[in-house]
Amino acid sequence: MSELHDVVIIGSGPAGLTAAIYAARASLAPLVLEGEPSSTGDQPGGQLMLTTEVENYPGFPEGIMGPELMMNFRAQAERFGAKLETTKASKVDFSERPFKIWVGDPDVPEPSYLAQSVIISTGATSLMLNLPNETELIGHGVSTCATCDGFFFRDQEIAVVGGGDSAIEEATFLTKFASSVTIIHRRDELRASKIMQERAFANPKIKFLWDTQIREIKGAEKLEGVVVENVKTNEKSDLAVTGLFVAIGHRPNTDLFIGQLDMKENGYLVTKAPSTYTSVDGVFGCGDVQDDVYRQAITASGSGCAAAIDAERWLEATVHGNS
Ligand code: NAP
Repeated sequence: MSELHDVVIIGSGPAGLTAAIYAARASLAPLVLEGEPSSTGDQPGGQLMLTTEVENYPGFPEGIMGPELMMNFRAQAERFGAKLETTKASKVDFSERPFKIWVGDPDVPEPSYLAQSVIISTGATSLMLNLPNETELIGHGVSTCATCDGFFFRDQEIAVVGGGDSAIEEATFLTKFASSVTIIHRRDELRASKIMQERAFANPKIKFLWDTQIREIKGAEKLEGVVVENVKTNEKSDLAVTGLFVAIGHRPNTDLFIGQLDMKENGYLVTKAPSTYTSVDGVFGCGDVQDDVYRQAITASGSGCAAAIDAERWLEATVHGNS
């Protein structure tokens, strides 16, 4: 028999664990499917597990290490009765209530769990160059978040890879700290909006390496530089930088929900702002999986809190109020 839960939370970054804290304190005994480590960089705890120091999460004036912050979130959720399982949802069926969720083999007929309501907080994954050393050096010179890490690169020479709005926005932001920012782009034309391009072209601290791909990321303990190749001439050269910001896009982790929940063209879940309601009544979305704008731990936490409150009120009005 599948276990029936009031709330199942899929995903355990700041959004999912904040939802767990709130749902647990509302006596809903939430079950959190926290995910499991994978070779593609997925992690229980989400993207903060791949960072070092977090200095912009309010409440920690001296900063806190990303993994430690997530362990604290986890302990706080467990303290109030949230149950965490280190496993990944492999299939969901939101076509009728209670909702069905499978972990492990998705082809077995019986779902692993039944849920009166579901909170989705599966996050997003930064696209990476997939070069050796890249993941190991995250937090040691390689970063995917200028807002989070720019401060650590004061007076240093750094590079940003990508040619879209994110890359140009990050590069422009990083000139507040770095002595120079080199944008490495694989074509000779940016994808970013004209106004952002013009701002970058006018910024004396920003240089461009056109038609260029990164072939190697150098450094053992920390980033020491990159080897770049001009894709037109095949000429390789060294670029000595102490920071590399990878800004080649993000991918929301929504594959599991294709065909079941409304999504934007870019794959992010549609939620009915200012609530966390998705297109299926009783299923709520929070954190980066539905946020292609802010993508911060604190905004994810905030929406996780909102999702738990939405779920609690919805359960009261729809399920518990009628029983
Ligand atoms: P994006 O628009 O998809 O741009 C990704 C960039 O990375 C492209 O220039 C692409 O090159 C490059 N790239 C992709 N894979 C690569 C690889 N393996 N190696 C090297 N380069 C690679 O992503 P984004 O910049 O994150 O923007 C996503 C969306 O958010 C866009 O709609 C954007 O307008 C929006 N956004 C808006 C703002 C703003 O308005 N303030 C800020 C950030 C993002 P090619 O150009 O050659 O494909």
